[in-house]
Amino acid sequence: MDNVICPICNCPMTDSGYANYLVGIKKFARVPVFYCKACDLFSKKLSHDLLQSHLNSAAYVLPENEQTYYQKKMVFFNFITSLILRYKSHPRILDVGCSYGHLMMAVAEEGIYVEGVEINDTLRERLKTKGFQVHKDLFEVSNRYDAITFIDSFFYFQNPLDVLKRCKELLNEDGILLLRLTNRNWLARLRWRLFKRSDLSVLGDTTHSYSIKSISRSLNKTGFSIKDIHLFEKGRMKKIFHLLAYLLAVVTFKKLILTSGLIVLADRQA
Ligand SMILES: [Zn+2]
Repeated sequence: MDNVICPICNCPMTDSGYANYLVGIKKFARVPVFYCKACDLFSKKLSHDLLQSHLNSAAYVLPENEQTYYQKKMVFFNFITSLILRYKSHPRILDVGCSYGHLMMAVAEEGIYVEGVEINDTLRERLKTKGFQVHKDLFEVSNRYDAITFIDSFFYFQNPLDVLKRCKELLNEDGILLLRLTNRNWLARLRWRLFKRSDLSVLGDTTHSYSIKSISRSLNKTGFSIKDIHLFEKGRMKKIFHLLAYLLAVVTFKKLILTSGLIVLADRQA
């Protein structure tokens, strides 16, 4: 088998199992998963075609699901908007992986200028008809912004360091980066250690699965530093486990972080 190289530290990764990965409507493919212990990063080995199939068939890109997602996520998107406004008072925002544009809508309602990036052609064209400026590719964007957001989208990119370097070029000097990531590496490690489970489907849709360690390394390597990590996610903590995990993080002074998500705020290194 070919060596898989960690996209953060360039060292060889260890073969650690497999995951069932969505590649069509209710259709899954088994893909190998690799791990870098130094960075605490899990990576799926995905071809470009597999990733594209996934991005065209996930539940959150299908037009018929838009209303359900709108109702499920609007409280959360309003919360993200208020979070951005805590750091920037009149920001120009770029939302990468904007999907149905629900965050853009929440932000625009506050009178804030926002553009999006969306690779899915159908979603992008729908947003254009609603008056939003949406780009196909982050590397084709030429404007500058005060905040760039990735809500559950950063972990899809196969080349995280290139993406972060690109964000640095697109951000104004005092701009901020907001990344919402899933936080499941601890669960994958636990299952592997306790039960020797090589089925790592628990990692979900991610191409690369980050923890605080791996995202810190990625940010530090590209000239960013973490400003804050938010573990409370209004509108997304509907199960008792979510609340308990949040409380556990608080009482352990963030030593034990088992929350389902991480909201990472970063700015340029001083
Ligand atoms: Zn690494």
